[in-house]
Amino acid sequence: MGRKVLVLGEARDGGLRNVSFEAISAASTVADGGEIVAALVGKDVKALSEELIAYGANKVVVTEHEDLAAYTSDGYAQALLAIIESEQPEAIVFGHTALGKDLAPKLAARLDKGLISDVTDVEVGGDQVVFTRPIYSGKAFEKKIMTDAFTFVTIRPNNISPLAKDEGRTGHVEDLNVEIKNLRTVVKEVVRKATQGVDLSEAKVVIAGGRGVKSTEGFGPLQELADVLNGAVGASRGACDADYCDYSLQIGQTGKVVTPDLYIACGISGAIQHLAGMSNSKIIVAINKDPEANIFKVADYGIVGDLFEVVPLLTEEFKKL
Ligand code: FAD
Repeated sequence: MGRKVLVLGEARDGGLRNVSFEAISAASTVADGGEIVAALVGKDVKALSEELIAYGANKVVVTEHEDLAAYTSDGYAQALLAIIESEQPEAIVFGHTALGKDLAPKLAARLDKGLISDVTDVEVGGDQVVFTRPIYSGKAFEKKIMTDAFTFVTIRPNNISPLAKDEGRTGHVEDLNVEIKNLRTVVKEVVRKATQGVDLSEAKVVIAGGRGVKSTEGFGPLQELADVLNGAVGASRGACDADYCDYSLQIGQTGKVVTPDLYIACGISGAIQHLAGMSNSKIIVAINKDPEANIFKVADYGIVGDLFEVVPLLTEEFKKL
């Protein structure tokens, strides 16, 4: 049973976020042989269409506008509402990113439609599409089905594998001009914290430091290990509260949720609020001086030891690979 599914291609810094390709993959399951249309919204984004097609979109609808250069809820909502009106999809898939978490519920409420958020898996059984999502801070999973003919979905980054990229795929690219008007918010300036290397929420490897890291300088060995593994550095709230690092690195219930292939927790005790942000990582390694630390309960591999001895040794070993 083929469905028409719309996906938002999330453009950032002249490229597309990986979650856009994961969203196409989720959409291909939902579409079940139907059409996948990608929406590209922004300023000077059309060149990114080809990549969306290479990852499986059958068609790309591009809405470019000076006022869409930076994300604003009302600007993007106007563009997406026009695209939805023109395409009439049966489901819409966003990344469960800051943008998706803001925009999907806004559009669902505006159109009086359902929303299934933070999805980690999609399956089709007969006529039903079944979505899996974590609940109770990742301690349990629930399955939801689409009962509405038109449902919004957000997918958690790093859980659904993208389709294989194929430059030989062909698709149709279409412009949709939308009049953007009466914006209630205007971005005057974007001030970014200097972050090194890989984006934490999309990283395949995360090296996270806790209060055991003891200082800002203590994060140095963690950054070196992250660089060798092409990963990103994260932190517990304990480390952020102690001012060892910026809150943008915080992982957990009130921070970012990450699901990398490899999560190395260094000097983190494993409080329930921290586990909420990382316990679904594929492989968890914990380094802690305290053999009773709670983090070892969720770890696949535990190293009881001083992180300042263990982390540099790991870095040296990984450099040899
Ligand atoms: P600690 O609990 O102090 O643990 C430090 C660990 O380092 C210890 O286990 C110690 O054995 C080990 N250690 C010390 N020195 C070394 C060494 N040299 N080598 C190896 N190990 C060493 N926390 C989060 O992380 N994310 C959240 O989103 C979050 N949200 C919260 C929301 C609420 C409402 C509340 C109440 C709390 C929240 N917290 C969150 C805080 C959480 O409860 C913990 O306080 C916090 O996670 C502890 O951080 P930590 O593990 O780094 O520090």
